[in-house]
Amino acid sequence: MNGRSRSATGTRVVMIILDAMPDRHLDPARTPNLWRQAATGTRADGGGVSLPVSVTYANHAAFVTGADPAVTGVHGNHTWIDGEGWILSPDAGPRAVTLFDRVAAAGGRSVLIAGDQHLVRQMGAQRADHVWPPAGEPPEGAGRCAHGYLVDAEVVEAARRADLHADLVVLHLNEVDTVAHDHGPDSQAALDQHRATDAAYGRLVDLLADGWERTVVLTLSDHDQEPVTDQRPVALLDAVASLPGLSAVSEGTALLIHGAIGDRERTAILAVDGVEGVEELAAGVWMAWTVPGRVFTPSRPSLGGQHGSPRCRAQLAIVSGGHPRVDDIGRWLAGRRPSALYWAPLVADLLELPPLADPAPPAGGAG
Ligand SMILES: [Zn+2]
Repeated sequence: MNGRSRSATGTRVVMIILDAMPDRHLDPARTPNLWRQAATGTRADGGGVSLPVSVTYANHAAFVTGADPAVTGVHGNHTWIDGEGWILSPDAGPRAVTLFDRVAAAGGRSVLIAGDQHLVRQMGAQRADHVWPPAGEPPEGAGRCAHGYLVDAEVVEAARRADLHADLVVLHLNEVDTVAHDHGPDSQAALDQHRATDAAYGRLVDLLADGWERTVVLTLSDHDQEPVTDQRPVALLDAVASLPGLSAVSEGTALLIHGAIGDRERTAILAVDGVEGVEELAAGVWMAWTVPGRVFTPSRPSLGGQHGSPRCRAQLAIVSGGHPRVDDIGRWLAGRRPSALYWAPLVADLLELPPLADPAPPAGGAG
């Protein structure tokens, strides 16, 4: 049944990531499959906690590396690389050893199936044994959402066709994020999508039935969303451009800034209408964020929801499965709000993966 898994116990860890699924919207009637996993396993009360910038790409990198953005530079949907500036995070990749690397080095087998095709590069999953969409390119004719990502039904079908007997399986459903951006995270459309994505999640869990007794399921989301009530962009990008030595990029309701921020710069930033706060994340890297309801760059006139600010850091976090260690992990999880950086070390421990040194430091400093 499981000839290619490496661990003596045949342990299988499955991370199922529901993009932008709000922990606060779990409900026994609307999301019965998530509710069942929480009831039979353990759910972090109040959810886990994302990286400071509550966006997709940095948090997915964190899930599979456990590496701090202060080291990798992968702070948000943009990564700081000295000499290059802010670049799109999927182009930078995870910039640290991933669980896919470690499973491969240990002679094991891993799988990634993702609704957001850019996660293949972002999570370093080119190293996985089975990757969908192949090479991160959506197949011709595959169902895509309005934002160009693969719909949940395609992910379920790809999982159904895949061999899920592996040491590590990472599955990602994207549609909640798309609908929350378009209509708002608390809209009827979003609630309806929670129901639909929960059903897709239930089908993914059903695919794990063979081998359930050796399976740990980590059900996560990367961030929440917040409603956008005022489409006028907060003019901080322009204000930062007028301050020498600073370089900024929008992360929705957050803004990443590289450079030296002293009293003068801080005063100028906080004076911009619609800015709520600014804080240092790492040496020379800062984030600012909007007041509720505002965004730094609207992507469309009718943007209903956005994320990036500290208000969207709650992550769904459920540990379930039939593996004997699920109860122990659950006892640890009860009463805690685990960081996005917690999961990769846990998975490495469950799979008994030896440490793997970075083959070379990431090119360029990480600011
Ligand atoms: Zn996301």
